[in-house]
Amino acid sequence: MTKTLRLYATATLLIAGLFFIVPAQAQNAPKRAITKIAGDLYRFQNNFHFSVFLVTPDGVIVTDPINADAATWLKAEIKTRFNKPIRYLILSHDHSDHSAGGEVFADTATVIAHENAKATIVGESRPTAVPDLTFSDTMTVSLGGKQVELTYVGASHSDNLIVMNFPAERTLFAVDIVSVRRVAYKTLSDSYFPGWIHALKKMEAIDFDILAPGHGPLGAKADIAANRGYMSGLYSGVLNGLRKGETLESLKSNLTLDEYKGWGRYKEWRPLNIEGVYNRIQLQRRAR
Ligand SMILES: [Zn+2]
Repeated sequence: MTKTLRLYATATLLIAGLFFIVPAQAQNAPKRAITKIAGDLYRFQNNFHFSVFLVTPDGVIVTDPINADAATWLKAEIKTRFNKPIRYLILSHDHSDHSAGGEVFADTATVIAHENAKATIVGESRPTAVPDLTFSDTMTVSLGGKQVELTYVGASHSDNLIVMNFPAERTLFAVDIVSVRRVAYKTLSDSYFPGWIHALKKMEAIDFDILAPGHGPLGAKADIAANRGYMSGLYSGVLNGLRKGETLESLKSNLTLDEYKGWGRYKEWRPLNIEGVYNRIQLQRRAR
């Protein structure tokens, strides 16, 4: 290579490098947004995670902080947009990808969670604020003339998941137990069967119109029944297969749950859902 050619090659590489670096950095910036759901209830997005918050004349009720950076961003946005103190932080369950960062709100907020969530947050040293207030079955939080009704749905996706109903906004916030036209996440770690199905029934008894999940788009009440259909088909399919002596591999190819073929992640996660339920049933079944 001549000197000129070498210089030219180096310059080209440098320019290519710059183009490569810039989009890579932009991709790393978290996608954050605040959108109105109904009335004074808003949805907060941090990449693939969502929570909600309610603005009242006496302050703001926030839910899952998601992580410390996301919570810091949300806290500043709430201050700029509404200029009201954050009075309550309600955690949907203990899992860190939703509960982390609670300490960001703890200077002004009372932290609420299910009693089992507190035990896990403390026991597993979750990176969040330790709940100040806990409950076992139901609890209503009132602030500035508005309410949020908390219901423990039983051991389902974790042993401490609660759902949050905002009656004036006709919206239910439900994390990780339900999604809109998408199968459940991978091998359903930390979950309980058939408790998960009972929990969905409990949620169907709540009076609401808009479903706000912890991942993916908003939905409607009918999505709960659709998820119950999928989970029931999955659970009974695996249980019946096991009773007939079917192997995990054969269940993965035969339990196709065709009705749900059009759902998101059907191809990748349905076999993992089967594996998760299979392993749980295997552990619980009595030897002959
Ligand atoms: Zn979870």
